Amino acid sequence: MLRSIYSLRYRGFKGVLYLFPSRAEVADFSRARVKNLIGENPDSIGRWLSDTDNIGLKKVHDGHLYLRGMVSRVGLKSVPADLVVFDELDEARDQSAVDMAIERMAQSEFKEVLMLPNPSLPDFGIDAAFQQTDQCYWLIKCQGCRRWCNLVEYFPECLRETAGGQTIRACVGCEKQVDISAGQWVAKRPGADRRGYQHSQLHSAFVKPAELLRKFRTARTLTNFYNLNLVIFSLALTLKRQSAFTKEKIEMPKKLSSKEIYELREMLRITGMIASRKETLCIRNR
Ligand SMILES: [Zn+2]
Repeated sequence: MLRSIYSLRYRGFKGVLYLFPSRAEVADFSRARVKNLIGENPDSIGRWLSDTDNIGLKKVHDGHLYLRGMVSRVGLKSVPADLVVFDELDEARDQSAVDMAIERMAQSEFKEVLMLPNPSLPDFGIDAAFQQTDQCYWLIKCQGCRRWCNLVEYFPECLRETAGGQTIRACVGCEKQVDISAGQWVAKRPGADRRGYQHSQLHSAFVKPAELLRKFRTARTLTNFYNLNLVIFSLALTLKRQSAFTKEKIEMPKKLSSKEIYELREMLRITGMIASRKETLCIRNR
């Protein structure tokens, strides 16, 4: 949701279509979550997002955020969008609505698709969609031995408990602590015409390694743990252009005032986006 608001505020998007599995979720989200977002972030989201009485429509800056249930095909007509976000795609009953939603972007110069569920079953829904992309993984360069690390691949060995009682993200080669911002997206299948990203809480600056390890050790089933905590396949399929959520420079439509820069920083903080050393952006979290 924060990425949607960010795109409407800073990337010149005029419409974002945010799809939930059913209408009940739209109503819950619209009533509770939007109110919380405004309440918790009065200096940023609170200023751009005007809450309306319309459950399915919010105004953000100069654009609109459309909240819809995927079961309602009628609700998808006449909604123009630059970005379509699927929340919990695996739970949606009508997978064919995906194609219709993508048609909503026919007139858009951006044409971006984000799929945000956790993977449920292999080869179904989000997992199947990811397999068809170029499969980008976040690889971090160890400053100790220069090895490239995929933390997800080496979980839980990549989390090391130090003698001082700390839990750190560590290189499995030399055991030195790694810097999650010192990485880059590397495609497993370069050249595929769609792009997908595998995100993980292991790469989030807001999730403590100790907390992940605790959840892992106390999880009832490992499948649940991996699906919900470790591998958040928050997938970005880009139809035409590269997604802005990769390591691209921030493209601003105009020069920002100091107040706007403050707002942007605030937005980056709450979306979990952090600037890496090369002044690029990466989203670490949902
Ligand atoms: Zn190393």
